[in-house]
Amino acid sequence: MKIKRTINVKGGLNDMPSFSFPSHPATETTYTSLPNSFFQSTKPTPVSSPKVLFWNDDLASEFQFSHWKKQEEATAHFFSGTNLPEGFQPFAQAYAGHQFGHFAVLGDGRTIVMGEFKNRSGERFDFQWKGSGRTKYSRNGDGRATLSAMVREYIMSEAMAGLQIPTTRSLAVVKSGETVLREEPQEGAVLTRVAKSHIRVGTFEYAYQTLSLEELEALFQYTANRHAPEVLQTDNPALTFLDFVMKRQVTLITNWMRVGFIHGVMNTDNMSISGETIDYGPCAFMNGFSAKRVFSSIDVNGRYAFSNQVGIAQWNLACLTNSLLPLIDPNQETAIELAKAKLNELETWFQISYLRMLGEKIGIPNLTEKELPLLQSLYQWMQDTEADFTNTFLVLEGVYTPKDSIYNDTRWKDWVKVWIEEQKKQGIREEDAITLMQKSNPSLVPRNHLVEIALANANQGLTSVAEQLIERSLSPYKRELGYDYSEEAPSGGDGNYRTFCGT
Ligand code: AMP
Ligand code: MG
Repeated sequence: MKIKRTINVKGGLNDMPSFSFPSHPATETTYTSLPNSFFQSTKPTPVSSPKVLFWNDDLASEFQFSHWKKQEEATAHFFSGTNLPEGFQPFAQAYAGHQFGHFAVLGDGRTIVMGEFKNRSGERFDFQWKGSGRTKYSRNGDGRATLSAMVREYIMSEAMAGLQIPTTRSLAVVKSGETVLREEPQEGAVLTRVAKSHIRVGTFEYAYQTLSLEELEALFQYTANRHAPEVLQTDNPALTFLDFVMKRQVTLITNWMRVGFIHGVMNTDNMSISGETIDYGPCAFMNGFSAKRVFSSIDVNGRYAFSNQVGIAQWNLACLTNSLLPLIDPNQETAIELAKAKLNELETWFQISYLRMLGEKIGIPNLTEKELPLLQSLYQWMQDTEADFTNTFLVLEGVYTPKDSIYNDTRWKDWVKVWIEEQKKQGIREEDAITLMQKSNPSLVPRNHLVEIALANANQGLTSVAEQLIERSLSPYKRELGYDYSEEAPSGGDGNYRTFCGT
């Protein structure tokens, strides 16, 4: 018998059928100009039968991907990472993070950056596959993501964009056709995330704690150049950079507090330097108000409860400040003094921003500490009655007449009287108050029970419910005359609603 000299091993990226891909916009990978310690060049792991489930036409058009059609095989192959056009050099990023207060070295364990693209205005964005297979940072994870978790991210991130709150976006969800093992077997999927960058507070912690000063400096230069080149022209670039990051986080978290959003896992690796909401895991919008509301099944001590988010953001930004100390000043004592002063400023910025937001929710611009008790008594009433957070402000605005009996109790009626008196005292015209409230209070958020129905449908391959939910969430500041908004709130509030990381 003649022994075959060569064996042709089938499988792997090189043997995948080749596609004629539509043309794609130019891609770059400026991030890989950083030292090797910041990334691993790697490719996604192909999936068996990719099929595009959700495709974001508007976003595709913004990045000149509009001729990539949802139904086409090439789209499913590329956006699941199964097969790539020539010229892509994807990479996974290294980072660290404080997870529930504990430091850990992490990295992209189930995400891979496909490249950077510019939008129509010439701004640079990362495109990233999420759920695209193992990387050297995967630890014990399988590198995959469940369909439910990816559709949840798709819905929530698009709703956040609709609320005009800074966020990463979602371009596509591709079903992998493979089973992902979690507590029970689930369908797998790959999401394409679009972000100003994926540089996190945890990226700086990684450089500070595990790399050299030169590498930390390289990361700083790269990030500043990418997001805030103007800081490099100032006397103390690292300190001015902190201003930039902190102010964006103040804006972001104040906005979450305005719309009742609970991120759920505000670890430092989930805080983006660019100030976008990132990593939609166990997040949710609150129905019945409770300052201590927590949805995430793993947040047993309520570290990331609704009312803790401002404090946690400050804690995370203190981690960032700490990581930048050697760049703030070579003399450690001086650096610490400057850093402390900056963190005090941060606290003041939060107070100002938070107070202003609260006032605007009730139609009073430039609310001061003096009027804060007015808000405190409203929030206390909402807490005691578990009033619906979104609808209560619509009731105040007079958008509809609520059915719920809590709006007949004397505490509520007395509060409304005091509120109207305060507006009169300050000479605020009713129409101006209403205009302000319309801008500040959404009438629609993706409520938990609606998200769950959308996810159950998506798991059956039906996308229309999620698409309708997103469609409605895209104009949350509109008011529909005559519509009974109490229909939106689930009877019984949030009950024991729980969210899961879905990893
Ligand atoms: P997240 O909870 O998505 O913010 O992830 C926290 C860390 O765990 C990151 O480093 C992720 O890359 C990693 N991770 C989460 N899920 C998986 C998974 N299924 N496989 C590998 N790594 C994962
Ligand atoms: Mg994360």
